[in-house]
Amino acid sequence: MANAGDRRQHHLVLVPCPYQGHLNPMLQLGAALQSTGSFSVTVAHTEFHFPNQSSPPHFDFLPLPDGLSDADKSSRDFVSQILKLNVNCKASFHESLTRLRERTDRQDEIACIIYDGLMYFAEEVARELKIPCIVFRTCSAANTSTYNEYNRLQEEGFIPLQDSKALELVPGLHPLRFKDFPLYKFEGSEKLLPLLKRSNQVGSSVAYLLNTIECLEESPLMKLRQEYPVPFFAIGPLHKIAPPLSSSLIEEDESCITWLNKQAKNSTLYVSLGSVASIDEKEFVEMAWGLANCEQPFLWVVRPGLVRGSDAIDRLPNGFAEIVGERGRVIKWAPQQKVLAHESVGAFWSHCGWNSSLESISEGVPMICTPCFGDQRVNARYLSHVWKVGLLLEDMERGEIERAIKKLMAGEEGEITRQRMTDLKREVMHSIKEGGSSYNSLHELVKYINSL
Ligand code: UDP
Repeated sequence: MANAGDRRQHHLVLVPCPYQGHLNPMLQLGAALQSTGSFSVTVAHTEFHFPNQSSPPHFDFLPLPDGLSDADKSSRDFVSQILKLNVNCKASFHESLTRLRERTDRQDEIACIIYDGLMYFAEEVARELKIPCIVFRTCSAANTSTYNEYNRLQEEGFIPLQDSKALELVPGLHPLRFKDFPLYKFEGSEKLLPLLKRSNQVGSSVAYLLNTIECLEESPLMKLRQEYPVPFFAIGPLHKIAPPLSSSLIEEDESCITWLNKQAKNSTLYVSLGSVASIDEKEFVEMAWGLANCEQPFLWVVRPGLVRGSDAIDRLPNGFAEIVGERGRVIKWAPQQKVLAHESVGAFWSHCGWNSSLESISEGVPMICTPCFGDQRVNARYLSHVWKVGLLLEDMERGEIERAIKKLMAGEEGEITRQRMTDLKREVMHSIKEGGSSYNSLHELVKYINSL
């Protein structure tokens, strides 16, 4: 997009939700908007999980005291953490914005606040200070549309979700089954349900943003556009639209790229369950033996906290390292986008977080889908059932794991899946080129914000 030249820049304030899968797309959105030359960007971020500011992009950062205790910070109860952040950060955000406005001249007035839907305190503050705001959801359109159905499903008696209906299609939300629902078997769903409903309300927001692509989610997007009374922008995949940026909260192990350089084209399985999902020790051991027995090279991310109650890298089963030798590599955190773009990577065994799904699609890497909780189930259903670019692997048992890997990486069905993924990648990448849907959407958003 042309540089704004001597046009004045509008000031945007971004409010991310402080988890890796939320921070990445928010910073990518900020970088994409900043790169148009129309905006300067301030990121208002909780002190909890505060990102490294030394690496690009160079935004201004506004730390928000969040009042979380050490116990809150180390807890795995993410729903309670988010609820507390919404209560605790409201006053500090209000105060910080008021001070920021007093400091800045009229030329640099805040044009708009873009907030993660889960950080709804930002919408309340924007309303009080009469600053326009825009809600950004970092999940898929299909997942977003499930939130709007909870009231109806509750009235119709489907919630709480029942095991006996797990495989039935959800009325009005095909192709999702009840077991694909974010609430299904979610411990603490009585707190999650109100959070999801609240975070999906537009309130005073003047627009709704999603990191998705028209060609992937035409029908859920159409549904959402009918449901929301505000302009709706589908701008994705943001990591391909934004200039390259680093927003990892854990140090990336770059040495794995040297190891990948030694592997044959399409030979290697990349394995990661993202930044928050966890498994129990039994599942971890089954994963390890499934990988050890599959005969394919693999790069496995075992991040701290992956295995509940242990530092998993030290808990690899006896004999694993000897059997695997140089064929496998276990690391704590990967430069995931670089890994997926590497020509030796032939498949991605993933928990199907929305960012991971978009990153895999953007590189044409077919997937093994093992969703753990929340929107991962919705994404896995679309990957395996709608786009047919991933195999579903729900049973963490070594034999099943070995079979799934061989099927995808060495079998005929795998070849067909790979071809479909290549076709999907082409379509998705077309959307960010001049005239493509995401390209157009980004430009419309810039115009829209400038008109506020
Ligand atoms: N990620 C990474 N290195 C890793 C694992 C994950 O950089 O070793 C990044 C990944 O590229 C993605 C994000 O962390 O952008 C995870 O987001 P996602 O929505 O896939 O899952 P979540 O962690 O939110 O469950």
